[in-house]
Amino acid sequence: MEDWAPRTRNVHAGTRRSQYGEMSEAIFMTQGFVYETAEQAEARFIESGPDEFIYARYGNPTVAMFEERIAALEGTEDAFATASGMAAVNGSLCAFLKAGDHVVSSRALFGSCLYILEEILPRFGVEVTFVDGTDLDQWRGAIRDDTTMVFLETVANPTLEVIDLKSVAELAKAKGALVVVDNVFATPVFSKAVELGADLVVYSATKHIDGQGRCLGGVICGTREMIRKKIEPYLKHTGGSLSPFNAWIMLKGLETIDLRCRAQAETALKIAQALEGHPALNAVLYPYLTSHPQYGIATEQMSAGGTVISMDIKGGQDAAFKVLNALEIVTISNNLGDSKSIITHPTTTTHQRLTEEQRAELGITRGLVRLSVGLEDADDLLADLKRALDVI
Ligand SMILES: *Cc1c(COP(=O)(O)O)cnc(C)c1O
Repeated sequence: MEDWAPRTRNVHAGTRRSQYGEMSEAIFMTQGFVYETAEQAEARFIESGPDEFIYARYGNPTVAMFEERIAALEGTEDAFATASGMAAVNGSLCAFLKAGDHVVSSRALFGSCLYILEEILPRFGVEVTFVDGTDLDQWRGAIRDDTTMVFLETVANPTLEVIDLKSVAELAKAKGALVVVDNVFATPVFSKAVELGADLVVYSATKHIDGQGRCLGGVICGTREMIRKKIEPYLKHTGGSLSPFNAWIMLKGLETIDLRCRAQAETALKIAQALEGHPALNAVLYPYLTSHPQYGIATEQMSAGGTVISMDIKGGQDAAFKVLNALEIVTISNNLGDSKSIITHPTTTTHQRLTEEQRAELGITRGLVRLSVGLEDADDLLADLKRALDVI
């Protein structure tokens, strides 16, 4: 497998065939596993081999196939699959942190990630410092000798800021801090997170890995040592493991993820370029537009601009609502990475919990909409968007 290209790995890595020689991977819909003898049970509880399972919360053959396949794609030694993206984020933090530790995090985060860092960790004595992720001086000032972890989301939701991961990782490593990256927007296809210095790469598999909006899942990718010695014990004992059925969906999703993400990113770039300068828009944000403030970093650390575009519509919330309501192909929802195009108004939905000031700080205006570009025909999508923008 070492010399296989990503697209070959995505289809074949991690496959485990049963004695029936099934072509498509089997769903091992079982929570328990049978031992031949009492001695075998005892031995497996002391140490279980790669094809020996105990209980589905600890591991399952279908889940193991998904873990091996995503690790092969991400370029890490191992991975642990979780029940949702948030179980992965929570696990990547809690498996390593203890009272007295210090974390530095970018401020522009997915709402639930912010909740863990802002509300939960401080209750257990973990100190968290937030910085503007795009400002290296703020990272430099915040990372201390006793900082244990750096957490960031790049590309950030929904303003699509890109953080200079390589430079932040260098600052963190100089102090011996772990680098954890929530990498959903960069996708496993376009990611170079490990190459750039991430120790742990976290995904909500709910997004591009499923890619068809069917089920929740998540995954943490990293070295075997970190995954099996820290992440697995935390997650298997606290109950964040992925179900075999959902693992199977994610596993099959990986077979097509490269084709889907490339097609979606190609359409996203085409739409972003076509809508830039549209009279109804204040701004079009997309990491691979030359006008993007971190265009240089984006092209260095991702092999494409991703599948999400944000647009600031002139006329604020009223105008944004009119555009959303006028769309015929693009649907109003809040998932992303789906094969169906989805549009979201962050101020009134995903980022409603924030105050007006917090939103202003993150650049989330009342006119901002986030478009997750799907697999539909690019010209159809563009026509739908232009027609909706004409309404205002
Ligand atoms: C969706 C998302 C999550 C949470 O994932 P779930 O699967 O919904 O739990 C975390 N981080 C980012 C960046 C996301 O987009």
